[in-house]
Amino acid sequence: MTNIRENLENIKTALAVAAQQSSTKTTPVLVAVSKSHDRRAVGEALVAGHRVFGENRVQEAEQKWPPLRKEYPDVELHLIGPLQTNKVKGAVRLFDVIQTLDRLKLAKALARAMETSGRFPKLLVQVNTGEEPQKSGVTPQELGAFLKECNDLGLKIEGLMCLPPADEEPAMHFALLKKLAQHFGLKELSMGMSQDYKTAVALGATHVRVGTAIFGPRGP
Ligand SMILES: *Cc1c(COP(=O)(O)O)cnc(C)c1O
Repeated sequence: MTNIRENLENIKTALAVAAQQSSTKTTPVLVAVSKSHDRRAVGEALVAGHRVFGENRVQEAEQKWPPLRKEYPDVELHLIGPLQTNKVKGAVRLFDVIQTLDRLKLAKALARAMETSGRFPKLLVQVNTGEEPQKSGVTPQELGAFLKECNDLGLKIEGLMCLPPADEEPAMHFALLKKLAQHFGLKELSMGMSQDYKTAVALGATHVRVGTAIFGPRGP
């Protein structure tokens, strides 16, 4: 049996310890990735006092979160999966942070939806640090031009997010993301998952996205 409360406590302790070894010394925000886990599992984390969650599908989040949000209005929801333009309205309505802004078409749709709804989720740009063709995200070379396009649309970008290639040492990708954020004067850095969040914190993560280490393995 997965003990969600205990997992959360252990990870928060590990984050605080890792933060002491980082240059910034600030403990990052733990985004509990609850994708594919049901309301019962999420409820355990909420009862344990956790409030920041990540989901990768708009539709799944729309089914899971509205009732939980009524009960826990201080929940902060992060979208960490690819966003299709036809789901933008729903995403803007539900999420407080969208970590996966990765193309101009999406930036335009977000700008429109934010203006019409008057809701302004924080935005992070996803960077494809490994330049993998199958993965979303702008490449490090494209980032400067993309940030300028976002700026021209009136979008305020708070930071960067990355998902390193599965078969590579994540540290070099985290270091690259940090360097890019510094270069462009961006504050937030979302990097690190269950396997590598300590490395990410040592390299300056302000947000880590942890699923399995909190909720246990996801179903088949
Ligand atoms: C699923 C997912 C995570 C969490 O992964 P774990 O290995 O379960 O911690 C983090 N980030 C993104 C983008 C994900 O899709």
